Amino acid sequence: MTDRRTELAANLARVEERISAACAAAGRKREEVTLIVVTKTYPASDVRLLSELGVRHVAENRDQDAAPKAAECADLPLTWHFVGQLQTNKVRSVVSYADVVHSVDRIRLVTALSAAAVRAGRELDCLIQVALDAESGERGDRGGVAPDGVAVLADAITAAEGLRPAGLMTVAPLAGPYAGRPRAAFDRLMEISTGLRAAHPAANMVSAGMSADLDDAVAAGATHVRVGSAVLGVRPGLG
Ligand SMILES: *Cc1c(COP(=O)(O)O)cnc(C)c1O
Repeated sequence: MTDRRTELAANLARVEERISAACAAAGRKREEVTLIVVTKTYPASDVRLLSELGVRHVAENRDQDAAPKAAECADLPLTWHFVGQLQTNKVRSVVSYADVVHSVDRIRLVTALSAAAVRAGRELDCLIQVALDAESGERGDRGGVAPDGVAVLADAITAAEGLRPAGLMTVAPLAGPYAGRPRAAFDRLMEISTGLRAAHPAANMVSAGMSADLDDAVAAGATHVRVGSAVLGVRPGLG
């Protein structure tokens, strides 16, 4: 049986190679792209190994799993990203360990995050999750605001104490006009990002790309890729 550390190191090297190749092909510097390893469904012992292997950014999508894991790993020099759909009753817990929330998609969540951040004495970076398959005004099934809702949310985050508007996040849609066309989806996200940065120059993070499509995301201009299975292995069941 292969030792887990060796396996993770080999997987990380392969992902690093893909990111470097995509950067080179796009004429981008490797430092322009940050790897976030999505550790959902995997144990704290894996997070510890990843940290020893040089990973500095990890992400989780369910507070029930993330909160104990983050507590077990509190001694590690890690930045924690929350990337899942977020209910307002989980916000206080998430704010206790997360440095960045990628899934801000409604005003009610902005209000709750702000109250929790102020109470915890923390400054939280907020990414607006864009649902590229949502119709005007709507939220998508998997979370995210329609593109025409981004500006209003960005203004709300800017006005909210304890929160910073940090940029945009998306998941390549499985349905609608962008289904099966991740590059086109990420190009559209970059256009929306350009519009956002005109009003909020510091909101320059673009979180896009997962194990299957990180190359397209880097080509389009993503600053952060969120990679789970390519590093940790395929998750059993839903995840
Ligand atoms: C699980 C997850 C990822 C990572 O997906 P992989 O296909 O395992 O790389 C990225 N982003 C979000 C929002 C996720 O939930």
